[in-house]
Amino acid sequence: MEYISTRGAGGERTTAGRAILQGISEDGGLFVPEHIPRFCEEELSVERDYCALAAWVLGKFITDFTPEQIEKCVRSAYTGGRFENDLPAVISKVGDSSYLLELWHGPTCAFKDLALQLLPRLMALSAETYGKGEETVVLVATSGDTGKAALEGFADAPGTRVIVFYPRDGVSEMQKLQMRAQSGSNVSVCAVEGNFDDAQTGVKRIFTDGALRMSLESRGMRFSSANSINWGRLAPQIVYYAGAYCDLVRDEEIALGETVNVVVPTGNFGNILAAYYAKRMGLPIGKLICASNRNNVLSDFIHNGVYDLRRDFYPSLSPSMDILISSNLERLLFEISGRDASCVGGLMESLASTGRYRIDGGMLARLQEDFAAGFCDDEATKASIRAAFEEYGYLLDTHTAVAWNVYERYRRETGDDRRTIVVSTASPYKFAGSVCRSLDIDFPQGLFAPLDALSRATGTPVPNPLEKLRSAKPRFDDVCGRDHLGGYVREQLGLQRRES
Ligand SMILES: *Cc1c(COP(=O)(O)O)cnc(C)c1O
Repeated sequence: MEYISTRGAGGERTTAGRAILQGISEDGGLFVPEHIPRFCEEELSVERDYCALAAWVLGKFITDFTPEQIEKCVRSAYTGGRFENDLPAVISKVGDSSYLLELWHGPTCAFKDLALQLLPRLMALSAETYGKGEETVVLVATSGDTGKAALEGFADAPGTRVIVFYPRDGVSEMQKLQMRAQSGSNVSVCAVEGNFDDAQTGVKRIFTDGALRMSLESRGMRFSSANSINWGRLAPQIVYYAGAYCDLVRDEEIALGETVNVVVPTGNFGNILAAYYAKRMGLPIGKLICASNRNNVLSDFIHNGVYDLRRDFYPSLSPSMDILISSNLERLLFEISGRDASCVGGLMESLASTGRYRIDGGMLARLQEDFAAGFCDDEATKASIRAAFEEYGYLLDTHTAVAWNVYERYRRETGDDRRTIVVSTASPYKFAGSVCRSLDIDFPQGLFAPLDALSRATGTPVPNPLEKLRSAKPRFDDVCGRDHLGGYVREQLGLQRRES
């Protein structure tokens, strides 16, 4: 299987391993597989544990390594107690036709762990295979959860440096502490004076800065990305959709071949895009329902085909979805344009120069065939947390609550009552203050007070990884302006030249 760029009209090709090492294509596009592999229904009834399933799915996309090599990466990522009971993805039935797919039983209590425990291992394997002994410098822009998950995944990984940028005022106090207290001799964490888009744009600029890349190369280093622009982040996310489907078949909740809907709380469009690939591979998925918070650029786009950034940015109770530039949408544009790289290039160009683009009627029709969308504000998010707890005794975090809200409205409005998987992306304890306020649970001052109050009021335990933070000391207090990410990277890598 070879990989091409979404903007690569020139027909350049590379392998999965090289694409993972490089992160983003040199033409600024994203790597995508040359075709989407398929499986047939019968293959879904084979009993496999999560690791075997992951090795099977990934083996279709990553063909430069042996099945044994891939399986070894997968087993070391998903076993050994990194995930509670060694179960990375857990299905919980709520109501009579919906299932929460809990992806937050890993080391950072959010779904990013599923990809970011595996990515460093795939990257190491790729570096072994293709690298010339270079050090890999992994740059991460985070809206809160990716940063910590990348730090956990890459900390003390041989031959790797990790530099994480987060929006100074755009992440929760718990997320901030998780990152600032990260251990490891190869990690740096820096706050950016700006929002997530500023951090992401700054990091993308570094990737396309030829001078910086060359000065890195001359010192035996190379950049890569742990953001979901990296194919190695996306591929592992396809696995849990197949896994959830197989679990529902096994538990006789659905018949083999029955279509299910999938609802995903969305920010950078990585998670829901993985579900789209799963569908294209042959997984019986009906609608992919994209749920946004008040930053509803994606749900507008899915409704009218216009992607328009020129709007206010609202910090919300679901900070990991406070994103206006959803990078992975570019991969979907590539598919719905019939894999037309020059069309994608033109749309991206228009986005960069005018802040908007419009897709044509054919593309919009293809988009709406697969996708539905909705959004809700903070008040509705809180109401959904309250309602799910009162009705089902189920505790939603603020991100999953957005999905739940959009799902209930979708079902009411369309009458589409197919069985539905709602992706649960974070532990409610990661956003305990907001969850407590939604449930009218009082708590005193202090970072851990809402966790304790939530635990007491609901009889559920504080997850271990958060419990352990009680004694953590912040190590990092770096801050940089939004135009100075490159300077910070130079400094951290010892490349800084004094500019006169
Ligand atoms: C990252 C994140 C999201 C958004 O996922 P995308 O793949 O960026 O769309 C949603 N919820 C939580 C808790 C997250 O950490």
